[in-house]
Amino acid sequence: MTDKHTPGPWKPEGTLIWAPDAKANIAQVSELRTDDYVSFTTPSGSSPDFHEIVANARLIAAAPALLEALEETKSALNGVPCSCNDDRGCQRCHAGRKATDAIKAAK
Ligand SMILES: [Zn+2]
Repeated sequence: MTDKHTPGPWKPEGTLIWAPDAKANIAQVSELRTDDYVSFTTPSGSSPDFHEIVANARLIAAAPALLEALEETKSALNGVPCSCNDDRGCQRCHAGRKATDAIKAAK
């Protein structure tokens, strides 16, 4: 048992997100608009939101790769100090803070 996420890469397949070994799915994206927001509703190809639902699955499946890229980018930013004297308005410092917050939220 671990409190870390299933290692990637995750693979999207329609509305499903699969683990690398394809023995279990990580998640299935639900229908976006239903009359009952409490229960999961399996999307169908006839849903008016089907393309958005599949796009959501692709985004979720990319999460491990995005996290790894963000961690590497943050590490690269940390390796070269910013030359700004006041980080307010500094795009690089702002991006670094956002990266730190996003990594923290993912772990
Ligand atoms: Zn800066």
